[in-house]
Amino acid sequence: MLEPDTIAAIATAPGRGAVGVIRVSGPEAPAVAQRLLGKLPAPRQATLARFSDVDGATLDQGLAIYFPAPASFTGEHVLELQGHGGGLVLDLVLKRVLQLGCRAARAGEFSERAFLNGKMDIAQAEAVADLINASTAAGARAAVRSMQGEFSAQVHALQSQLTELRIYVEAAIDFPDEELDFLPAEGLGLRLERIFMAFDAITAAARHGALLREGINVVLAGKPNAGKSSLLNRLAGEDVAIVAAAPGTTRDLLRRQINLDGMPVNLVDTAGLRPTLDDIEAEGVRRATAEIARADHVLYLLDASTPAAEPRAQLPSGEPFGLPSGVPFTLVFTKIDLTGQPPHRGPVSEPPHLYLSALTGQGVDLLREHLKGVVGFQPSDAGTFTARRRHLDALGRARVSMQTAANVLQSSRAFELFADDLRMAQISLSEITGEVTSDDLLGEIFSSFCIGK
Ligand code: GDP
Repeated sequence: MLEPDTIAAIATAPGRGAVGVIRVSGPEAPAVAQRLLGKLPAPRQATLARFSDVDGATLDQGLAIYFPAPASFTGEHVLELQGHGGGLVLDLVLKRVLQLGCRAARAGEFSERAFLNGKMDIAQAEAVADLINASTAAGARAAVRSMQGEFSAQVHALQSQLTELRIYVEAAIDFPDEELDFLPAEGLGLRLERIFMAFDAITAAARHGALLREGINVVLAGKPNAGKSSLLNRLAGEDVAIVAAAPGTTRDLLRRQINLDGMPVNLVDTAGLRPTLDDIEAEGVRRATAEIARADHVLYLLDASTPAAEPRAQLPSGEPFGLPSGVPFTLVFTKIDLTGQPPHRGPVSEPPHLYLSALTGQGVDLLREHLKGVVGFQPSDAGTFTARRRHLDALGRARVSMQTAANVLQSSRAFELFADDLRMAQISLSEITGEVTSDDLLGEIFSSFCIGK
């Protein structure tokens, strides 16, 4: 295998700060230390040093820490330079380090090397990125759990259960005459049941983790003046959108992230849906329609106080309610302060009906609870770990293979086929931790990280 080169990057965020960190990783790290600092710091000891330029001038003075391989983040020799956190001074030190034979690191390249050197698996590397990007405390806690390997441990436990089952069944392939003795049907049934239970538990926790990480996209839609901007402001707790009595004020999309007990909710206020001759408003309606099509949930607002109390009179043409089929939505009747109705849920559940007032705030808690309910979010985060759609995909595929295996077994007792499907399930699970992963996927995962990570 090719000897890896030595990479370097600024690891702290751009901008001014008290401290800025440059990371160097690779075989040349000790030589870089020698030439930059005039000495190789003792392993793992913070050492005060001058960072010197090619002509000996001092670029900065700070702490240097040397982590000899393999006891480092990447598993390679790592030199960490903690200097002053100004953009220019960090650039100058980095430039000098690059002159000393390093290459500028690509995004996520330190984490990629940590993965390739067996320091952590992919799910853990992804959790590092998730921790850095977490927007809620619950999301951060979930990321820490994944980073420490909790998610991976559960995937491995499931893997072991599948391996045991394979061994159990393969015994029957090797000794076909004795198969009935080897495989009492109820023993197999019990094992399968336990495996499906484990699949369900880990999928539920991963789905919850994905919610904490990605949140849900909720679009506020409806005719002009239904009260969409007022509701956005009420949910956001501040005046994000212009509220006006004149219809058609919101023409572009307005986004705001709110936090519902730890679940990020990405709210999008849209232009009121109505036919219009105004070009700008028409573009707004087009954008609103596109946003609705990719929403996780749509709140379709209706003004409960309009004389046409029959809501259908207000609905745009098209079915259902001008919304593309398949997008889950809730009908929200607004302005109940004008009708004197109490806030409540309507008796109809398909789609659900909610009655509230953005002006007084009555019923808005009901809406918050409702949003948590529609995605099955529970505020308790015990046992949740951060997860991504890619993990959910892999879990889903593994479960399908597992189901096929179980069906084969029931219908034909064709053990070779059964073992094949189990193997497929195991391959899908391995994609989560990265034991089986294509280079393309690796590239895609790590390139989404930031430089210096
Ligand atoms: P949008 O066009 O759907 O975004 O609607 P806006 O939020 O701009 O509201 C249109 C008008 O309805 C404004 O004059 C608001 O003050 C008023 N409005 C919105 N929500 C309520 C409400 O809950 N109660 C009352 N009484 N008026 C409201």
